[in-house]
Amino acid sequence: MAPLAAGAQTVPATEPVIDIHQHTNYAGRSDAELLRHQRALGVTKTVLLPAGSRYGLAVQAGGNDSVVVLAHSNPGEFVFFANELPDIAETEPVIRKYLGMGAKGIGEQKFAVEADSKSIDLIAGIAREYSVPVLLHFEYEHYNLNFTRFHKVLERFPEVAFIGHAQTWWGNIDRNHTQSVMYPTGKVAAGGYTDGLLADYPNMYGDMSAGSGLNALLRDEEHARGFLLRHRTKLMFGTDCNDRDGGSEKCSGGKMLAAIRRLASDKTVERSILYDNAARLMKTA
Ligand SMILES: [Zn+2]
Ligand SMILES: [Zn+2]
Repeated sequence: MAPLAAGAQTVPATEPVIDIHQHTNYAGRSDAELLRHQRALGVTKTVLLPAGSRYGLAVQAGGNDSVVVLAHSNPGEFVFFANELPDIAETEPVIRKYLGMGAKGIGEQKFAVEADSKSIDLIAGIAREYSVPVLLHFEYEHYNLNFTRFHKVLERFPEVAFIGHAQTWWGNIDRNHTQSVMYPTGKVAAGGYTDGLLADYPNMYGDMSAGSGLNALLRDEEHARGFLLRHRTKLMFGTDCNDRDGGSEKCSGGKMLAAIRRLASDKTVERSILYDNAARLMKTA
């Protein structure tokens, strides 16, 4: 795909913003539509997370080759991760191949394996060797199962940065979370499992993207202000939305951007979450 003309950009990028969570072909969206969506939000660098060789991350997301093509045609605006199912013969050769081509991390790991397992150990071992982060989707009874054992992985791989995402990751900011609930409402009792991982493990990071991340902030804004402040060096802005326009009523990414700007206690916290933490972790600018 040819890059858009410079004049096509609708929002001037006065401050750089990194979006750590997007997909090619997301629910059929074209590369041109994705590029326009990101520019409309004011995102200056997007991390593309490919699917593995099967399942399309359950959203028809494109695989490794699709993210390489888009990143190479717009090198200033996109970087990419490498991915594969964690429990097949191709896991290692495929992930190594795309890390060798410049992938900045491994993910989105969204597969039906135990969170604390030989499969995730295999992924973590490769990540350690290449000094790249791993992004995981935690969803009760679906992906990376038995989340509340994940600290075991953090302890086995202290050199590897892990980035948590999705419903079960966000539900567990609340000490009183019921595991089967995907989008909990009401006040948050601070000190849930996720809160503890971010506080206690230097190698645990949080991905703000999707309806789950947005819900976690908006369900209790008073809690959210404190959460952003205490984990300001760990949280990273992401969108993971599949709308075409960017900033429209259906765009959870745009709402998250506004929520971070509103709820961050000062400009330094805001910039850390929108840019600095991801730039440091992904070794990009
Ligand atoms: Zn995703
Ligand atoms: Zn959107």
